[in-house]
Amino acid sequence: MTRTDQRDQPDQPDQPDHLAPAHQTRPRALSLLKPTGHLTLGNYLGALRPMVAAQERADCFFGLADLHSLTIPHDPGRLRALVAEQAATLVAVGLDDSTLFVQSHVPAHSQLSYLLECVATTGELGRMIQFKEKGRGVDSTRTSLFTYPVLMAADILLYRPEQVPVGDDQRQHVELTRDLAQRFNAAYGQVFTVPEITTPPVAARVMDLADPTSKMGKSGSGDGPGAIRLLDAPDVVRRKVARAVTDSDVGPDAVRRDRGVKPGVTNLLDILEACGGTADDVTTYGALKRTVTDAVVAELEPVRKRYAEVAADRAYVTDVYARGAERARSVAQPVLAAAYAAIGL
Ligand code: AMP
Repeated sequence: MTRTDQRDQPDQPDQPDHLAPAHQTRPRALSLLKPTGHLTLGNYLGALRPMVAAQERADCFFGLADLHSLTIPHDPGRLRALVAEQAATLVAVGLDDSTLFVQSHVPAHSQLSYLLECVATTGELGRMIQFKEKGRGVDSTRTSLFTYPVLMAADILLYRPEQVPVGDDQRQHVELTRDLAQRFNAAYGQVFTVPEITTPPVAARVMDLADPTSKMGKSGSGDGPGAIRLLDAPDVVRRKVARAVTDSDVGPDAVRRDRGVKPGVTNLLDILEACGGTADDVTTYGALKRTVTDAVVAELEPVRKRYAEVAADRAYVTDVYARGAERARSVAQPVLAAAYAAIGL
């Protein structure tokens, strides 16, 4: 789960004073990653690199949505290890200029979620696509799989963004967020900023090397030989790229983009370009794979090296996240307090 929420208007004249934004001069960006697997090249090119770039122009709240990892059967030790790994990875890619935090360290998220559950209906939650998909053919699911869109609404509303750029897969979640905010405001008073939905610039979409019609994913079926992990050693990257699916075309223009007919080759070319390489002089699949490997390794090696340093300095990572959680709490708490007061608590 990821969102980038931006607030472009510095002033919110219809907000009560105690809800005035803490940082009026910069738009705010919020994005939470769900620690359900090892981060991939897809996460890096599609999410982490744009997040690093966002630090230039926005007041960024980035973090790990550990509560959202509990909606399907999970292993506590694995979750803890993934949170530690991803926490260090966000620092390693250069996101420590942001407010970095772990969702469960800011209790306002689950506290506001409960209040929003009191305005949400079972009917609208039952229509959420991801619940219908993950629950299909299953007798019973965790209740949290049903209610997590409300937690996502709380994640967003606590930071009072005015705009939420979302891709198609998250659109329904933000529509629910708007509905809940409007309903709460209408029933109990003007507490939440109702965010507008905007369309983000198209991000790189990296496909699985072994199945180039599926997204390269960090969990589930994607976490296999066709997924390059952000922390893969160069020889592992080389092996995965060498085994990437191409096709049987051996013609002189075999190395070309054609998403319908040549999804594997197109994906390799996309990855190459996103990593700053070029296939201008490349005519064979063998040469393409070597060029892609070199470009990916050149892109990821600095991250891997920095990760090793950061992971060895646990105290630094702990301190970054402790400070981040403290700032996130200071921003979220007044909004939660206003919601409590409005609803009669
Ligand atoms: P997910 O790993 O699906 O929870 O997504 C976390 C973030 O990484 C989201 O911003 C996704 O859009 C992005 N992301 C995940 N997989 C890919 C991919 N294969 N290509 C591009 N972006 C991706």
